[in-house]
This record gives sequence, C-alpha cells and structure tokens, in this order.
Amino acid sequence: MKPWFVLFSALFLFIQCRQATVPPAPSLPPAYAGAKPKNVILLIGDGMGLTQVSAGLYANNNRLRLEQCTATGLIKTHSASHLITDSGAGATAFSCGCKTYNYAIGVDQHKKACLTLLEQAEGRGMPTGLVATSSLTHATPASFYAHVKERKETEAIAADFLKVDIDFAVGGGLNYFANRTTDTRNLRAELEAKGYVVRDSSQSALAALQPDPARPFIWFSAGKEPKYAREGRDYLPVAARMAPVYLQKRGEKGFFLMIEGSQIDWACHKNDADNAIGEMLDFDAAIGAALDFAAADGQTLVIITADHETGGMSITQGSEMGRLEIEFTTEQHTASMVPVFAYGPGAELFNGVYDNTGIYYKIAALLGFEPAGNK
Ligand code: MG
Ligand code: ZN
Repeated sequence: MKPWFVLFSALFLFIQCRQATVPPAPSLPPAYAGAKPKNVILLIGDGMGLTQVSAGLYANNNRLRLEQCTATGLIKTHSASHLITDSGAGATAFSCGCKTYNYAIGVDQHKKACLTLLEQAEGRGMPTGLVATSSLTHATPASFYAHVKERKETEAIAADFLKVDIDFAVGGGLNYFANRTTDTRNLRAELEAKGYVVRDSSQSALAALQPDPARPFIWFSAGKEPKYAREGRDYLPVAARMAPVYLQKRGEKGFFLMIEGSQIDWACHKNDADNAIGEMLDFDAAIGAALDFAAADGQTLVIITADHETGGMSITQGSEMGRLEIEFTTEQHTASMVPVFAYGPGAELFNGVYDNTGIYYKIAALLGFEPAGNK
C-alpha cells in the first residue's frame, strides 16, 4: 500500500470520526467477492442525484440504509439524443443496455423494440417483479416491459403489460388498464383471465394482503398516480419487503425485481425540498428491506441507482444537521453523474465510473444472459 494512501485514509477516517454524530450503520455480512448472484434487485431512485441522497442523509440524523452497500460507482446519464436525459431513455439504458432518444420506452434509437433484462429473465424461467410509486405505465417501470415510441402512449404501454408474464407488480395506473379511452379492452379482466390475482387500494391495503406464490399478483395503488409519502402513501417499503419473499417462493431459478422510488423526481421538478426528502427516506426504507433480504439470503445482488438528477438541488450555507437550507437551480433534469450503490454477490463490478448502459451489461454478465445486442 502506498504511504500517501495510508496517510490519506487515516486523515479521512479521523475527519469522519470527528464529525460523526451517530455510530456508523451496523455492518452487513461480507459481500461474497467473486461470487455470482442468483437473484437481482435493481432499485431506481428517479431524479436521485448525490444531493438528494445527501439531503436524505442529513435530514435523517446522518444515517441512510444505503450506506451499508459495499460498492459505489458513478454513471454518465446522457441519452442518444440529449446531454440531459429523460426517464424513458434513462430506464431503457438500464433495461436494454442501449442509449436511445428521450421519451423512448423499450425501443432503440431506430425505434426498434429492444430486449429487456426483465424479458430475458422471463425467458430463463426466472420470476420477475416490478414495484413503483408511480403508475405501472410510467416511463421507468414501462421501460422494463413495454416497447413504444413515445412515453405518453400510456394505454399502449398498459397493453404491452399483457404481453409479458410479470409475476409480482405493485404501482398505480389502474385506469390505464380498466378505464380506457383508446379502446374498449378491460385489461384488469384480461389479467384475471390470465390467472392474476388483481387487487387495488380501494379494496385493501397492500400490507393486509398475503399474495399466494402459486398465482401472479398485482396490487394497484391508485387510479393514476399515487400520492407523496408525506401525504400518507406507505406501500413502497411494504412491497419491497413482500416482493423478494414472494418471488423466491414463486420459482427455483432466481428472480429479477425492479423497485422504483418514482417521486423523488416529481418533488424536485416542483423544487419541493420537503417532499424530495420525504420521498428519499421512503425509498431508503425500501432499500433497507432489499438489503435485509439480501443479507439473510446471501445469493441476492442489490443495486441502487438513479436515471438522472432533477432540479440542480443544492444544500446551501446556513444548513445544519437535521435542518437543511435547500435551493434548486432548475425545474428540469440536469446532466450531473448519479451514484450507484451495490451489495451482495457481484457488487464489486459496480465500482467505478461508467455509462448508464453499464448497469445492463453488468447485470446481464452476472446472470449469464447473452447480451441482447441492442444498439
Ligand atoms: Mg420514473
Ligand atoms: Zn423528471
């Protein structure tokens, strides 16, 4: 080890210790360096830049569950068409491994459908899950199962949900399935005919349900978009705890699960720091549920990242631990790199600086998927 590195590390540790107001988060079991995961949980914080993470941390007594990850990286988020990506191109980079144009959903830059991680997992007989705090048809979750040229084609996206066999789905958007304006189909009835147990928030809270792993399961959290966590939405951590247990019982071959904290982005578009922090902490609780499962299971890789930063968020002079002064520079997305955190077998692959498409390629490599050759 180089002397300068030892000195730097010692200084860094010294400063860390001096500034710590709470003991560090308890460490998790070793991350099984070199091993390959059986299960993958990909958590996407929409709009979750480093400042959103920092604000959640400092608003929460200097503690987040994601600190327990053992690997960290940074990704370059630009799309094929714009330096500043939207969530469609951002999620398609993760799901298909290709840079595409803004507003694309599961299609490449030539508007051709690209094979997604979720579809590849299905092809391998792995159970799959999608959880979001947006509608299930919103850009991020949609990019894992739908193939449409424009993210606004919400009902076409819902129709694509019927073409895959997602085993566990939780999110809003029931109206795009069951109360359609572009055709007369009732996709809720079609899902039930396919064998799904379909429930919605008007019937039962998610926490009161115990989905039977013998049948695919959907719980709709809203007709359109769910509310903020600070306004009473509480299902994301519940779903994050429920989904891995369900999926593990659903099949033998390992599972793929995507969980999105969708509304960090929405709060930052509104330059609403309180809700941005509320959404960040709700997402972190979901991260905690995923990490608890992975730590107990030992065969599950957890990856946490973001599609882009939103709002040009900044924690400014005058802030104190637990009482932050926050400013925004825009109501749009920004181009800054966003963080990646990973824990579990294969986590070390996620260290470093790379393109957002690297998330796809690393997961595909670890699960032994043929790279889909999406351009
Ligand atoms: Mg999103
Ligand atoms: Zn946005």
